[in-house]
Amino acid sequence: MNKLGIFVNFWEKSWKINYPYYIDKVKKLGYDILEFQAQPLLDMTDEECRSIKKHADANGIKLSYSLGLNPKYDVANRDKAVRDGGVEYLSNIVRKIAVMEGELFSGVTYAGWGIPNHFVDDREKEDLFCRSVESMRQVMKVAEKEGVTVCCEAVNRFESPLINTAAEAIRYADMVDSKNIGIHLDTYHMNIEENNIGDAIRLVGSRLRHFHTGENNRNVPGRGHLDWDEIFQALKDIHYKNDIVSEPFLQMGDEVGYYIRVWRDILENPTEAKLDAEAKFLLDFTKGMLIKYNI
Ligand code: MN
Repeated sequence: MNKLGIFVNFWEKSWKINYPYYIDKVKKLGYDILEFQAQPLLDMTDEECRSIKKHADANGIKLSYSLGLNPKYDVANRDKAVRDGGVEYLSNIVRKIAVMEGELFSGVTYAGWGIPNHFVDDREKEDLFCRSVESMRQVMKVAEKEGVTVCCEAVNRFESPLINTAAEAIRYADMVDSKNIGIHLDTYHMNIEENNIGDAIRLVGSRLRHFHTGENNRNVPGRGHLDWDEIFQALKDIHYKNDIVSEPFLQMGDEVGYYIRVWRDILENPTEAKLDAEAKFLLDFTKGMLIKYNI
C-alpha cells in the first residue's frame, strides 16, 4: 500500500507550526507522512531541522515538503535579479530538505504562487514558461547533488497561469530535463482543469512522483462529489507506488485561510477534536479505496 500523509495546515492556520506536536498527532491517527510548507525551514538552524527529523524518525513518520513560492522569489520573472534571487531561495530550501534527509519538494515551485494583475497572452505565457525552465535547471544542479526531487504541481487557473494541466506539467518536466524533476498532481486542481481526471493521471503515468487528494471544495476525500473510483482506478492503471498526501482545508481565517481562500468554515465549528475525527475519516476512506482497487 502507498504511504499515506496529510498536510499539516489541515489543523494549523499559520505556515509555521509546532512540528513535534503534529508528528505525534499524525502518528496517533495512523498516518505515515506529515507534509508541511518548506519555507519555514529557512528560519531554522540545521540543528533545529535535524532535531525535528529525529523526532519524526523516532515515531516512524516520514516528512515531506511543499511550497507556494513567494512571488518575491518568482523564478519566472522578467527581471533577472528576481529570478536569480528565486534560484538561490529554492536552492537553499533544497539544501535544508537535504539536511533533514528529505527526498521530496513539491508544490508551486516553478513561479510565484498567484496570478499577474493583467491578461497573460500566449506569448507572455511562453516567456514565463521558458524563463522558469531556465531557472529550474539551475536549481536542479543542487537538487541532483543533494538527492532531492523537485516537483511541479499543476494547479488551477486562479493560482498560476503557468502549469494548469497534466499535459503542461509533462512539457515543463521534459524541458527541465533532469532525473530530479518530478510531476505532482492534485485532485482538487484537476477537478477544475482536466476534462477527465483518470485520463490526466494516465497521461502522466510512471512519471507521477507525488499525489495530493482533496475534494472539489477542498473538503476531505469522501465528503464531496469527486469520482474517487475514477481516480483510484487510474492510480491502479499506472501502478502508482509513491506517496498520497491529502490536502484538505476546512477552516477559514488567518494566514492559511487567506492564501487558500477559505471564506467560510467547510466543517461547522472546526474544533481540534472534530478535525482529528475528519482526519481519521479520510485516512480510512483512502485505505478503503486502496483496498477496493487492490493497489
Ligand atoms: Mn496540492
